[in-house]
Amino acid sequence: MSNSPADLLARDRRCVLHPYAPPGTPGPLFAVERTHGVHLRLCDGRELVDGMASWWAAIHGYNHPALHGALSRQLERMSHVMFGGLTHEPAVALCEKLVAITPAPLTRVFLCDSGSVSVEVALKLAVQYQQALGKPQKRKLLTALGGYHGDTLGAMSVCDPLGGMHTLFRGVLSEQLFAPRPGPRFDAPWDDGPKSPIAAFEQLLSQHAHELAAVVLEPIVQNAGGMNFYHPHYLRRVRALCDQHDVLLILDEIATNFGRTGKLFGCEHAAVSPDIMCVGKSLTGGVMTLAATLTTERVAHTIAGSEPGVFMHGPTYMGNPLACAVALASIELLLASDYASAVSRIEAQLGSELAACRGLPGVADVRVLGAIGVVELERPVDMSKMQPAFVERGVWLRPFGKLVYTMPPYVIERAELAQITGAMHDVIALHA
Ligand code: PMP
Repeated sequence: MSNSPADLLARDRRCVLHPYAPPGTPGPLFAVERTHGVHLRLCDGRELVDGMASWWAAIHGYNHPALHGALSRQLERMSHVMFGGLTHEPAVALCEKLVAITPAPLTRVFLCDSGSVSVEVALKLAVQYQQALGKPQKRKLLTALGGYHGDTLGAMSVCDPLGGMHTLFRGVLSEQLFAPRPGPRFDAPWDDGPKSPIAAFEQLLSQHAHELAAVVLEPIVQNAGGMNFYHPHYLRRVRALCDQHDVLLILDEIATNFGRTGKLFGCEHAAVSPDIMCVGKSLTGGVMTLAATLTTERVAHTIAGSEPGVFMHGPTYMGNPLACAVALASIELLLASDYASAVSRIEAQLGSELAACRGLPGVADVRVLGAIGVVELERPVDMSKMQPAFVERGVWLRPFGKLVYTMPPYVIERAELAQITGAMHDVIALHA
């Protein structure tokens, strides 16, 4: 085994499959040697400021002693035991903490291995709930265009039909109902005229309520489906309509949770609480894979009150003690920090520095919410040019579609964030 960066990349290209990449990964690929603070150090010695926080998870930066300390203390006691018929302190303490910090009616926590699985769990909870109520015909889902909820089959069925590759998987994915993209924009005046997105949503919901188990939405920010920031009142209206039509509301907070939009959870912008909530990604501060699905006493006990009397799900690595210990440490670290000020400082800096991108040719829109900064282009990005151009400027960003965006760790310093926004401007100016 050779240690040279070129050899590592060659070995990778012989046997590793990367996400959304063909075998052999002909596009740009960079080998990481280690991480520290908000930096990735590549095997060839280059240092990159990470504007992605490892797909939005590493909110405290990398190698944080509080997180690694919790992990190694837990490692000394036990790394894993099955969760069927057994329990342990890290899982119980994490579930107690999640119940304490999420909106009031959420009292029951199902621990899962990844965000996609937590969405599967949410969908299954909703379907089992309706069955338990004697309404087995209520098994469809209503969602909105522009959403993203994961790559497993159930989750994919509620992703944007274009981005979610529905044509490719036609006949395999369940067919769900799609309302128009939520709107108006987060900071635009509220509009509920007959042509507004909420009017179309209301019409679909009232027409199909008899066959709907639940509505599934990302609260306030639609993330991987297009980085759309929508009006909090839309979510308030959705909540009221779900109640009116006896349909559950599932909020997928996986990308918005733990402060990313400036509130601890995205739904707090609208003061709305769901019947089922998915959390993940930054749950462990980016150290280990873990997610959770929370629900109410009503949903949990309704399911328990009818055949088969249990919720039908149980992953092998459910409640992994290492992941639970690090998640608890990450939440405590976040709550002990002034994360709201950190995120609003990032928001202000992104707003003022990305404004310069507005005047660039090929830029369609610039928008910022919390620690999310987005430059939308008129055409899809050419990754083969953009990705190396960012690395040359010492930053790690991974645009997709027409979107060049950053979701950095909350601990990023002013100069480091300026390096990211400067690179976004310069690379867009050259390659958009
Ligand atoms: N829901 C949302 C809102 C997400 O952003 C993602 C991941 N980008 C998922 C679900 C899926 O999570 P995971 O990749 O951990 O399966």
